[in-house]
Amino acid sequence: MKRIIALILVLIMTFTFSVDVCFATAPDKPSRQKITSILPGNHKLSVMWNKVEGDNVKYLIRIATDENFTENVKDIIIKGSDNDYTKTKLVNGTKYYVKVRTFITRDTGKKIYGNWSPKKSVVVKSTAIYKNTSITGVPELRFRKKEDDGDLLVLVNKYYGLSSDYYPSDMVSVASKYSTYSGAKMKSVAYKAFKKMYNAAADKDLNFKICSAYRSYSQQRSLFNNYMYSRGASTAFILSAYPGRSEHHTGLAIDLLTGRNGWAMSNSFGNTKEGKWIKKHCAEYGFILRYPDGKTDITGYGYESWHLRYVGKDVAKEIMSNGLTLEEYLDKLPPGYKKS
Ligand SMILES: [Zn+2]
Repeated sequence: MKRIIALILVLIMTFTFSVDVCFATAPDKPSRQKITSILPGNHKLSVMWNKVEGDNVKYLIRIATDENFTENVKDIIIKGSDNDYTKTKLVNGTKYYVKVRTFITRDTGKKIYGNWSPKKSVVVKSTAIYKNTSITGVPELRFRKKEDDGDLLVLVNKYYGLSSDYYPSDMVSVASKYSTYSGAKMKSVAYKAFKKMYNAAADKDLNFKICSAYRSYSQQRSLFNNYMYSRGASTAFILSAYPGRSEHHTGLAIDLLTGRNGWAMSNSFGNTKEGKWIKKHCAEYGFILRYPDGKTDITGYGYESWHLRYVGKDVAKEIMSNGLTLEEYLDKLPPGYKKS
């Protein structure tokens, strides 16, 4: 038995050593590429592929109107730090084929190409229709709320939506000192609570501002479409909400930024003094972190340390102290979700 264990150990060490060697030297040839998403738009298509780390890495995108890549061929070279591209000025109603390969340029100037990805095709058209029944797509709505009845626990997610003419009541303008842009609006109950939270934080020399509050249906539609075209479908569905399914539409949600991390909208916010204070104290003012880390299968979104939702103090305390989501609190979990 001891011998076997010793043998396994030797094998593990050998494997580890050879892995190190692999990473230490530049690969002779980049590995085969894979297209992770392709999406049609009006006179355009967006394509995303796997990003490859390393110096002198670039990608060659080839687009054509036939599957053998002989007709209307267009080659585009993309720098290594990017992994998505939108080709514009395409003809609506036409099917386009796309493939991608990685290449590296040696110091001598010689280019070493990886294998082409499997090709993917898409018909470019004036109205993109996104049908995806998974939680990361646009599933069938279970419920669509038509008007604001004042319910502070209104649930808006991928399954619970708001109609395009849903307008929250009791909306007020956010004073300029609290926000990074002019014209911000939110529900008065949430605004009052925010001001208290802001002042309590200011007493501790902490400062944050609202960078997004209420968003109308049409504002959300343009935002979502921008994500779609700039980042591709799979990323857009995790980062942004389909119009009518954004919590910002309720007037009860806000996104916060701080100068401490250069006003970046990223999860570095959660690591700033402001972000840590918010996480610890927001419930005392009636806010919850709506998209906690590790709850994507319930909320449908990635971790957002900057997105707060007003639900009132009692509910906020219960949600935050028990590490819950609003879906769990309301017992409205996504279809097929299994409690562990
Ligand atoms: Zn948000």
